[in-house]
Amino acid sequence: MRTTVHGDYLVQLTRLGAFNCFLVRDDDGKGCTLVDTGLGGSAAAIMQAAQKLGLTIRRIGLTHAHTDHVGSLDQLHAALPEVPVAIGARESRFLAGDMTLEAEEAALSNRLRGGYVTCTTVPQVLLHAGERFGPLEVVAAPGHTPGQIAFFDRRDGSLLAGDAFHTRAGLAVAGTFRLLFPFPSQATWHRPTALATARHLRALEPTRLAVGHGPVETSPLDAIDAAIEAEARKIGEQVTYGA
Ligand SMILES: [Zn+2]
Repeated sequence: MRTTVHGDYLVQLTRLGAFNCFLVRDDDGKGCTLVDTGLGGSAAAIMQAAQKLGLTIRRIGLTHAHTDHVGSLDQLHAALPEVPVAIGARESRFLAGDMTLEAEEAALSNRLRGGYVTCTTVPQVLLHAGERFGPLEVVAAPGHTPGQIAFFDRRDGSLLAGDAFHTRAGLAVAGTFRLLFPFPSQATWHRPTALATARHLRALEPTRLAVGHGPVETSPLDAIDAAIEAEARKIGEQVTYGA
């Protein structure tokens, strides 16, 4: 697993060149929040990476329930049973294997996309927009999945956006198809909602953008604006909700 440090708080852990999860340091420099858990089989490497940096994993936060973000959750929870696990309240039902959609979600699109896996770990913390999780602020980020959340670190402006954007083949909004890396767009539930989320996240004016797939981008606002414009053109600005 490749470890890349970004500024004072954010550490990127990358597997197979394309799958990120993140450690975010606490103010005391001893503990951290793990955001997402990578593909299955990543638990030992994640714990080793934290240990090498002298960090204790104090809490685990999940952006959404796709397999490549929760794949090592059960393994990590078995190894670190005292560490609280958190996910967005809406998304928690997918994690438990309940794939039914709310009426207003189904009205937008009744087809979930991307790989979901049922986890035996039951998160103790169900998060809502505006709440805090360790040093991070929870931001609603639906569209890629119905209940995705992002985590914003106001200490340094880092935005951990899950798959609301991808940067693997240039910065793009979740639903935007990129031939060189098509998976995030193919796994996106509802593009107009994802676009509304992109605008909502842009309004936070992040100084650093950390996503599930691709490099961490510093000073990302111009690239985000271009990505939003490109996606808006592609979908012809349909009616949006949620942001
Ligand atoms: Zn995803």
